[in-house]
Amino acid sequence: MPEPATHLYEIELDVDGVSGSTLALQLPVWSPGRYAKMDFARNIQDFRATNAAGAPLRWTKSDGARWVVTTGGRPARIRYRSYDNALSGTYSVLDTAHANWNGASLFMYVEGRKQHPVTLQITPPAGWTIINGDTRTAGQRDYRFENYDRLVDTPTEIASGLMIDSFYVDSRKYRTVIHHNGPAPAGVRERFVRDVEKIVRYENTVFSAPPLEQYTFLFNIGYAGGDGMEHLYSTQVIDRRVFSDTFTVLPGLGTAAHEYFHVWNVKRVRPVALGPFDYTREQYQPSLWVAEGWTQYYGLAALHRAGVTDRAEFYRTMAQTIRSNLTAPGRKEVSPRMASFNAPFWDGAPQGQPANGANTFFSYYTSGAGRALYLDLWIRARSGNPRSLDDVFASLKRRTWDAPTASYYLQGRGYTELDVERAASEVAGEDLHSWFDRHVGGTDDPDYDSLLALAGLRLVRGDSWRIEELADATPAQREIRDGWASGRRR
Ligand SMILES: [Zn+2]
Repeated sequence: MPEPATHLYEIELDVDGVSGSTLALQLPVWSPGRYAKMDFARNIQDFRATNAAGAPLRWTKSDGARWVVTTGGRPARIRYRSYDNALSGTYSVLDTAHANWNGASLFMYVEGRKQHPVTLQITPPAGWTIINGDTRTAGQRDYRFENYDRLVDTPTEIASGLMIDSFYVDSRKYRTVIHHNGPAPAGVRERFVRDVEKIVRYENTVFSAPPLEQYTFLFNIGYAGGDGMEHLYSTQVIDRRVFSDTFTVLPGLGTAAHEYFHVWNVKRVRPVALGPFDYTREQYQPSLWVAEGWTQYYGLAALHRAGVTDRAEFYRTMAQTIRSNLTAPGRKEVSPRMASFNAPFWDGAPQGQPANGANTFFSYYTSGAGRALYLDLWIRARSGNPRSLDDVFASLKRRTWDAPTASYYLQGRGYTELDVERAASEVAGEDLHSWFDRHVGGTDDPDYDSLLALAGLRLVRGDSWRIEELADATPAQREIRDGWASGRRR
């Protein structure tokens, strides 16, 4: 990145162990966690290929994102530049404030060798600090990844003036890295880090502490855009608002609560299409209502369950989720599974023609959160609160993460919709197939009024929807609603 103001990354790719007369290089057309087809190759320029001695090699392209170099079976050096000027969880940026990349938009892989180890050497601008989920020592410039998937799963921030803090939960090291636009008011940084720690402490109780030594939260606060993206050992969070004393929930915190939940849900316990990844085409699959929707529910609930917000705010948030699930026009057009399937049409997709999504699409985030809410409270009510949706995750984890490893990519195997249904049925103690048929494969509205009544609660519809506690609730009902709000099981 010799000239940050040009937004051009300069990339050199050395390929050894070449066999065969040609070498195919593929740039992903999408990036895991955002489901639209992105065609990052549009921003690649000045592609050149040489042999080890610097002599040019012939090359051509076989489609938009696949380069074919004639190597004659010898090592090759590939050089190209990438124009990047978008701070997000998917694209990359290089400007005078920082470099921040998501690897799928920058790094090509050698076809057929995605599973091989890769090394990365970074040359930063003078005075800028490199940090990502794999950074172990100050000033570290050299990285090694088990495979290409891990390389592109390691977003990297490089800047001066980063605020780096750490804490330990469950014997794991957690780091918060804050790139804040301008000075932050005194004390707010400390409160923010403490709040992140509270979130981690609560969320680790849901699945158990994740299998890692170190996890890194990368925050860009006060920079244009707004995004969050999950990764195996880190997350990227971007919030356009700057820190101020006036926030109960500081900018970036709600997104962090969502993204950290993904450390298990989607990054490790994962739908079968999501790891190892096929980067050559966008993925159509039915399970984002769990991967994103349940994460949405837990991320919202975590703010109260971790002690950041009060119970009134918890009820307000849950009432909003219910309202969307009972009123959004698109909910009668797409089921949670079909909305998941259509994600590449909507999640970050450029909309070249006017679309009717407001009427024909209902986000799997919201419908999935609505189903998660229903199952969590229903299982608590049915069991008298010793069980909850947490146990469904435990069952899903046992069925898939603890199953024999199915690929080079990661422990265990991906889950199917049948795995989810079986895990929920096991915890509920009854076959939930017809419930899944109606509310997950179908578009029937869940009956939230009856559900809330089981917990001594009432849904009040009006200009803004509310959840009220019934004064005459029985002790058993109080136990269920207290458990739901606090996240505790008896
Ligand atoms: Zn998410």
